[in-house]
Amino acid sequence: MIKPILFYSTNLRATPVTFREALLKGIAPDKGLYMPQEIPRFSKEEIRKFSEMEYHEIAFEISKKFLRGQIPDETLLQIVKDSYNYEVPLEHVYDNKFVMRLDQGPTASFKDFAARMMGRLMQFYLKKEKRNLIILVATSGDTGSAIANAFYGLDNIKIIVLFPQNEVTNRQRKQMTTLGKNVQIVSLDAKFDDCQALVKQAFADPDLDYLHLSSANSINIGRLIPQIVYYFYSFAKLRKKDEEEVIFSVPSGNFGDMMGGMFAFKMGLPVKKFVIATNENDEFPKFVKTGIYKKIEPSLNCLSSAMNVGHPSNLSRLVALYGGVMDETGYISKAPDMKLLQKEIYSVSINDEETKQMISDAYKAHKLLLEPHGSVGWAGLQRFLKDNPEYDNSKQLCISLETAHPAKFPEQIREILNFDPTLPPSLEGIEEKEESYDKIENEYKDFKTYLKSKY
Ligand SMILES: *Cc1c(COP(=O)(O)O)cnc(C)c1O
Repeated sequence: MIKPILFYSTNLRATPVTFREALLKGIAPDKGLYMPQEIPRFSKEEIRKFSEMEYHEIAFEISKKFLRGQIPDETLLQIVKDSYNYEVPLEHVYDNKFVMRLDQGPTASFKDFAARMMGRLMQFYLKKEKRNLIILVATSGDTGSAIANAFYGLDNIKIIVLFPQNEVTNRQRKQMTTLGKNVQIVSLDAKFDDCQALVKQAFADPDLDYLHLSSANSINIGRLIPQIVYYFYSFAKLRKKDEEEVIFSVPSGNFGDMMGGMFAFKMGLPVKKFVIATNENDEFPKFVKTGIYKKIEPSLNCLSSAMNVGHPSNLSRLVALYGGVMDETGYISKAPDMKLLQKEIYSVSINDEETKQMISDAYKAHKLLLEPHGSVGWAGLQRFLKDNPEYDNSKQLCISLETAHPAKFPEQIREILNFDPTLPPSLEGIEEKEESYDKIENEYKDFKTYLKSKY
């Protein structure tokens, strides 16, 4: 038996656990995030072989390294095959510069990549142990629909999503309410924060222990591992020669996406630089520059709404990766190696004006269609190349991530480019489908009664 990789808490006050426990628990008992005690590595030869593999095969090789035989190979292969049954387009823009479109999943958001695999990994353990679980999430739109779609139809798992009636778009709502089966959607005539508060209260309520409630938020280690894959995949498909190094640009909010990239790097992917682009919530670019961290409260509302984050929940993982300790409030008790971090990461804040301008410029110059999040990433890359002329040459491979489909933002695209982006196949026909959801009052006792009557 090979020794499994254990997962420690970034707060360092909880016992390290196996992958199974980290996956099913989500957050450590000391409120820290789980991190692998060891990061497995790929040899140059192994990475070279990825060039001939399909996406799901690379996903298999990467997960196998972390899981070390804890899930049978044939089961793991089935999980990645089921999770990744859609395209991952690598769009050529100019010279050796590309945009990777992570928007072909069922909800046209990059969150599908992580959520689909996490759901199937959870299902594996629950089935094996003949147990059931209820996933409870509050959403302001995108996370809820990605989770609901990812877990839709899985055995041993039910999903309840709470959303604020007036804060999600029609399209976002329909992506959740037209599913059915094991997906239950509940609307509240309240704000997102109220939904979040009810969910938190339910988790803390011992009367509901019998329901085995679990969260599926972005800090689950089961969502991070799948996010390593597309970094390896894109490099493997686009590299031209052996000694090549790549620059990635990642539009970032809670930093789950960029942590996937950092793991890929530490596993041996030859990355020259990570460009981490944020919107006007610039706590991280400031931190990289000064070493001083100050969260933004409340977070600022920007066009790239999924990145309106004033304190990235995965930041403590990044700090841990560079040898420091940051708790869940953002307090740093041990400083990370800032010199190394500054060498490997360039971070920049892109404001709404620049985001809009880049949507327009990219389309005019290259027929490159971006939505606000991808525009922040692409603008971040352009800024980096301008600031660092030594990297700005036609040979340097650069890959910028597009995290949602432009058709999810029809109003902004129409305003800037004067046309309606065509819907991806996954969103077609959704307007005509029948909706079904429950409405409850914004009162915890009503929510509790609802849960107890249903389950
Ligand atoms: C969630 C999200 C992001 C931010 O990803 P993080 O992993 O939180 O940094 C970026 N773009 C879109 C479209 C998203 O939904």
